[in-house]
Amino acid sequence: MSPLERTAEALRQRGFAVSVFATAAEAADYLDSVIDRTTVGFGGSMTLEAMHLWERLGSHNEVYSHLHGFPLGPEAAEAAVYVTSVNGLAETGEVVNIDGIGNRVASTLYGHEKVYLVAGRNKIAPTEEDAVFRARNTAAPLNARRKKMRTPCAVNGERCYDCKSPDRICRGLVVLWGPMTGMETEVVLIDEELGY
Ligand code: SF4
Repeated sequence: MSPLERTAEALRQRGFAVSVFATAAEAADYLDSVIDRTTVGFGGSMTLEAMHLWERLGSHNEVYSHLHGFPLGPEAAEAAVYVTSVNGLAETGEVVNIDGIGNRVASTLYGHEKVYLVAGRNKIAPTEEDAVFRARNTAAPLNARRKKMRTPCAVNGERCYDCKSPDRICRGLVVLWGPMTGMETEVVLIDEELGY
């Protein structure tokens, strides 16, 4: 069994809905077909950007994304559907996200009819501890650099220094051990490298 197959199986055992695709293009086609004529909030995600989901879903849904000029506010938080990626995904089925403002992790916990977590195979790590390590030392530094933050990880190198910088983007870490009660959560796994 491949790491991706092991992860899919572990997620299903934890109660997540799971769909698996060979390519980002196939996953984008799927999401474009199942999310229709509704309101959609977007978490800031390079995975979603690479899949052009803003443009695709925006042609037949009401979409809200702060990466596309829409201010952070209640619209995305109260949308029927929320779409985002993850910072780490354990082969044992835990889903890890780090956030600075909190909008993205909050939406994985509460407030929507359905949440889609879209993740390329590069997000997978063997254990929960490894997934947290990945989120802290791979995803967060790359995001800090992308956002041009004055943090040691962005300036010096791609690892976490547990900085106390005012620019620190890592202010909360959420591990989902399963979908939250009452909120359907589907993990869309893609057998390609996507995002950070
Ligand atoms: S805590 Fe600071 S050093 Fe560590 S990844 Fe986050 S921003 Fe970078």
